[in-house]
Amino acid sequence: MTYPLQPGAAPGAAQADAQADAQATPRARAEIDLGAVRANVRALRARAPRAELMAVVKSDAYGHGAVPCARAAREAGATWLGTATPEEAFALRAAGDTGRLMSWLWTPGGPWREAIESDIDVSASAHWALDEIVAAARACGRTARVHLKADTGLGRNGCQPADWPALVAAARAAEAEGAVKVTGIWSHFACADEPGHPSIAAQLEVFHEVLAVAGRAGLDPEVRHHANSPATLTLPESHFDLVRTGVSVYGLSPSPEVGVAAELGLRPAMTLSGSLALVKRVPGGHGISYGHHYRTPGETTLALVPLGYADGVPRHASGTGPVLVAGKWRTVAGRVAMDQFVVDLGGDAAEAGDEALLFGPGDHGEPTAEDWARAAGTISYEIVTRVSARVPRAYVNRSDSGSTGG
Ligand SMILES: *Cc1c(COP(=O)(O)O)cnc(C)c1O
Repeated sequence: MTYPLQPGAAPGAAQADAQADAQATPRARAEIDLGAVRANVRALRARAPRAELMAVVKSDAYGHGAVPCARAAREAGATWLGTATPEEAFALRAAGDTGRLMSWLWTPGGPWREAIESDIDVSASAHWALDEIVAAARACGRTARVHLKADTGLGRNGCQPADWPALVAAARAAEAEGAVKVTGIWSHFACADEPGHPSIAAQLEVFHEVLAVAGRAGLDPEVRHHANSPATLTLPESHFDLVRTGVSVYGLSPSPEVGVAAELGLRPAMTLSGSLALVKRVPGGHGISYGHHYRTPGETTLALVPLGYADGVPRHASGTGPVLVAGKWRTVAGRVAMDQFVVDLGGDAAEAGDEALLFGPGDHGEPTAEDWARAAGTISYEIVTRVSARVPRAYVNRSDSGSTGG
């Protein structure tokens, strides 16, 4: 067990208070199905049977809650966790996680030493980073575990192939001194969510070259890794020793081109809902919300949904976002405001306190995060990740077949 805490063990005090309050006054609620997280991890492991699985839990597990999701992922056999920032990794250590854990987004100044002392695998894309890692390792008398990142074509982080031989030579020298161990060599795809995109094969070819250069320099990493969720789902030759899955752990398909979540064996873990704050009759011709971008076509019933862009509901979904209220899909009428939006129920009845389901797995006819992504001109990753801290998370265990894998 990499977590001493048991599943369902008491969350932190603040979280427990938030949950108690959420039960008392459920203005809004994001229900997170940890059974779905576990089932998704098992489904992904079955897709990449020869590789280890890293559950990417950056940005509070894409809005789902890093600590409970990390624990669920570990239970289902994720041998690695991944975060963008070191602070996100420290929070997992503080919560009791002791397994392999990597952070990849570093800026000059670290905090390298804290990471090394917390047994976090770090990443270097450039000489400045390797130099700072070596200095921190010497200062604390420990060997830093480092993943060297190559830019195989994403054009974002990572060392350019032209600079790679010098970086691996420096890393090898630092290994000889005992300051570092190069535990990983890795990169990241640009277009894996568009299966067949020519950049995919090109990136893999470059990756094989950078691995060969590293091997000739004497590096022998534990894990070579390049695959994100879409590559894990569509491209076995990209799996190498480790796959880094994020969005799919939370049950969302990386893109419509990769497939529909259910057909990929994935189950959305988050359900976002609210409790209607007001239902009222208004006459025809009534302007609705800021700017009056919607006007009631006739006498009608309006329902007020108490979530807005401060909760993560995209303002870009004004006039387009779908929500299940009183048994039917409604569309956001007029603008999404900071704290609330309105839907027009037409002739249908509802009352204050009734549920508004913004998105979920779709079982009850509710929209999905993918539907919101389409409505707002974005991707489902952003829809779940932007659900803000003002929305209490409630953890449940459904959709879990029970086996723990691992
Ligand atoms: C976010 C991220 C991932 C996970 O990507 P998904 O498409 O969500 O699976 C993997 N690797 C890196 C470097 C990332 O930043």
